[in-house]
Amino acid sequence: MTVKTDIEIARAANKRPILEIGKKLGIGADDLLPYGHDKAKVSQAFINGIEARKSGKLILVTAINPTPAGEGKTTTTVGLGDGLNAIGKKAMICIREASLGPNFGMKGGAAGGGYAQIVPMEEMNLHFTGDFHAITSAHSLLSAMIDNHIYWGNTLEIDIRRVVWRRVVDMNDRALRQITASLGGVSNGFPSEAGFDITVASEVMACLCLASDLKDLEKRLGDMIVAYTRDRKPIYARDIKADGAMTVLLKDAMQPNLVQTLENNPAFVHGGPFANIAHGCNSVIATTTALKLADYVVTEAGFGADLGAEKFMNIKCRKAGIAPDCVVLVATVRAMKMNGGIAKADLAAENVDAVKAGCANLGRHIGNVKSFGVPVVVAINHFTGDSDAEVQAVSDYVASQGSEAIVSKHWADGSKGSEALARRVAEIADAGVANFAPLYPDEMPLFQKMETIAKRIYHADEVLADKKIRDQLKAWEEQGYGHLPVCMAKTQYSFSTDPNLRGAPTGHSVPVREVRLSAGAGFVVAVCGDIMTMPGLPRVPSAENIRLNDAGEVEGLF
Ligand code: ADP
Ligand code: MG
Repeated sequence: MTVKTDIEIARAANKRPILEIGKKLGIGADDLLPYGHDKAKVSQAFINGIEARKSGKLILVTAINPTPAGEGKTTTTVGLGDGLNAIGKKAMICIREASLGPNFGMKGGAAGGGYAQIVPMEEMNLHFTGDFHAITSAHSLLSAMIDNHIYWGNTLEIDIRRVVWRRVVDMNDRALRQITASLGGVSNGFPSEAGFDITVASEVMACLCLASDLKDLEKRLGDMIVAYTRDRKPIYARDIKADGAMTVLLKDAMQPNLVQTLENNPAFVHGGPFANIAHGCNSVIATTTALKLADYVVTEAGFGADLGAEKFMNIKCRKAGIAPDCVVLVATVRAMKMNGGIAKADLAAENVDAVKAGCANLGRHIGNVKSFGVPVVVAINHFTGDSDAEVQAVSDYVASQGSEAIVSKHWADGSKGSEALARRVAEIADAGVANFAPLYPDEMPLFQKMETIAKRIYHADEVLADKKIRDQLKAWEEQGYGHLPVCMAKTQYSFSTDPNLRGAPTGHSVPVREVRLSAGAGFVVAVCGDIMTMPGLPRVPSAENIRLNDAGEVEGLF
């Protein structure tokens, strides 16, 4: 049997016109702003008009620590959304947009996989509705206005060595990480060090994803710190007078994008902040709008539950005033085997003992999610090579932890494969047993927030930080930023800061190397370990194989 590639399956989809998908949700043609035939933005007027409605149930899909074997959070999010619709529930899916750069490197697509995908997948993975280009433009406008302010006399007395606003481009381009700008003489400004991040790492992205509306977005953009004076006084984007024009550039990007699954169920694909230096989930406006339109909303948080779910709960839910009714923790037999010490090349062979050995990682995530007061169900995302004994080993382990695991075959069978999972998730969400509380209160000091996450979620003994870092946190507290949540930036591969330490380590320390204030987005970033904000391309980038075929279709993309 030849297995069809994701793009082949997506291309064969029997898509419905997007106006029809909108109509199913009760969004009239006047309130849908179509981008072609299969994508549309939802008008702000419509969103304002449904504010008073009752919200549906929120289901968060998260996962164990990722391994190169792949977990399939997006695939499961889409599969579960289709499964809920298939059993007669009114469900919507909310996921992130894709970053352009990684598509030409080696990452898989962002639209799900197999028979659980969002379409049109090529477009979703490439320019889509232009939101990320708008973010790049808004970010670049501010960069240009800062340099322009300095060029024309620098009345704000910006210290050009302390401009913290970097530049962005949506491409994996390591050559731009650290550069010298404004070379070439007097008319080009003052030579200074600069550098680029990938667009998804822009604070503009995080602001857009946490903003409740355009007014709130404008305020957040104005609050962003772009530079400091010689005596360390912060200079805000508002001081540069860029916030208004940036909001204009983002006016359409702020509206959620409606698309559909292979099974013609509605999905919002909107926003895509980095999951390390930002919070890694789709936009608040998409999630809160979906909650008014559907009885069940299935959404995803990036990386494993130690990072993604933690930030979803402590940052997104806190800011948006929402709470999950059920958490689905995705696990795979292959990833359990890798956690159990098996090399990637040997994953195909059955090995029940390795599966059992690797389950400790899953167990810790189950406990962590429960500590937020939210019920959890494990979804075993089935791969065709998984043996029954291996699957049973995971189920037995989960049962021993007082939870339940359900095998889901949405990748191979679409909603037919995920109905059992959907039934159970709906039951749990309907039972109303969730009693969500974030891990720490707003008023807790910043360093203590980091310690709380490190001890309660990573099961570390301590957080290590230099006096310089602690003083910086104290200074921010004095300036009125002490109430902000913290955004941990650490490796996604381990509970610790060592990517090679798999399983469920204890006794480790979490060194905080650097702290950053994202004053517009509204969080303090704790950088623990090497964090890459501008990826590079691999030796053989997938771009080498991407081309248009004779029919004008995209080939080689996933
Ligand atoms: P995540 O959201 O956790 O990063 P994705 O859902 O994007 O993961 O899946 C990553 C890749 O793994 C995709 O290319 C997808 O097609 C593939 N994949 C996911 N689930 C399965 C499965 N059950 N069998 C085979 N491939 C899968
Ligand atoms: Mg994903």
